Amino acid sequence: MSVTVLILGGTGEARQLACVLAADGVDFLSSLAGRVAEPRLPVGRVRIGGFGGAEGLAVFLTEYDIRAVVDATHPFAAGMSANAVAACGRVGVPLVRLARPGWAGLPGAPRWCWVASHETAAVTAASLGSRILLTTGRRSLGRYRERLAQHVVVARVVEPVDQQVPPSWRVVLDRGPYDVDGERALLKEHRIDVLVTKDSGGDYTSAKLDAADEFGVRVVVVRRPDARLDVPCVSDVAAAMHWLGSRPG
Ligand code: NAP
Repeated sequence: MSVTVLILGGTGEARQLACVLAADGVDFLSSLAGRVAEPRLPVGRVRIGGFGGAEGLAVFLTEYDIRAVVDATHPFAAGMSANAVAACGRVGVPLVRLARPGWAGLPGAPRWCWVASHETAAVTAASLGSRILLTTGRRSLGRYRERLAQHVVVARVVEPVDQQVPPSWRVVLDRGPYDVDGERALLKEHRIDVLVTKDSGGDYTSAKLDAADEFGVRVVVVRRPDARLDVPCVSDVAAAMHWLGSRPG
C-alpha cells in the first residue's frame, strides 16, 4: 500500500482537507487519536490511535511510505505537533502545520482576559464572577476543580467526565457547532457571569464569545501553547493544498 499524504486530524480543517484531497484524487490517510467514542470521521481511509511517540510515528511514516504530513491537529494538541516535527525530521518527510487563526482578531478580544494557563484562568475566573461557564474541555477540568470548588460552574464537555466534580458544578454534554441563539439561552439559563475558553479559533465554537460580549459576561481566554515549531505553517486548507502542490513527486 502506498499512501502519499498523512493528515494528523481531529479538527474541522483536517476533515475539509480530506474532502479536497479526495476530490483531487490524491492518495491520503487520516489519523485520529481516538479520544472521543464517536468521532466525526473524515472521508477516506482513517486510522485511530496513537503512534507510540515520535519514534512510533517515524516508523509509521517509513512503513507506509508517507511522502508528506499535514499536521492539522487542534491548536492545543502540542504533544502531537512536537512528535510530528521530531518524526518527520528524523526520516526526512516534509511537514506542514495547518492551524486556524486564533480569536485575538475578533472585535471583543481586547476586552477579554488573556492568560497563559488553565491554572491562571481558574484564578482569574474566580476573581471575576461567581457563575462560570467552563468550555476548556473534559481533560482540563481537574485544573479548575480546586480553585472553583465554591463557584457555580457549568462545565460543557463533549464526552461524559470520568472524575468527580464539586457539588456546585453541573456538567452539560454537548458538541458544536453552536449558534448564538443557543449560547444566549445557555448563558441566561445559568445566569453566567464569566466564560472560560481556550483560544481554539475558528467559527465552530465562537458563538459563545458573541453571546458573552452581548450580555457583558466576562471572558477568560487561555492562550495557545507556545508552539514555535520549525516548520512551515498555514492557516487554511487552500494554503495547505498549495504547499502540497509545491512538493516534488
Ligand atoms: P496531544 O496531547 O498533543 O497528543 C497526545 C498523544 O495523543 C500524542 O502523543 C499521540 O499519541 C496521540 N495523538 C494526538 N493526536 C493524534 C492524531 N491525530 N493521530 C494519532 N495520535 C494522536 O493531543 P490532544 O490534545 O490529546 O488531542 C488529541 C486529538 O484531539 C488530536 O487529534 C486533536 O486534534 C484533537 N482535539 C484536541 C483538542 C484539544 O483541545 N487538545 C480539541 C479538539 C480536538 P502517541 O504519542 O502514542 O503517538
